[in-house]
Amino acid sequence: MTKDPVCLMDIDEEKAEYRSQYAGQKYYFCSDACKESFDKQPEKYAKNAA
Ligand SMILES: [Zn+2]
Repeated sequence: MTKDPVCLMDIDEEKAEYRSQYAGQKYYFCSDACKESFDKQPEKYAKNAA
């Protein structure tokens, strides 16, 4: 399990539909809205990922 860095919800990376990459790391999201927020300001959210 990992965390959606935007809303901090637990995410199963095997099932995650929404993904992004930033600075060589993969991030997973619960929704397109969270992914969009991350993609706009990845530096703001990246540190929240577990
Ligand atoms: Zn989310």
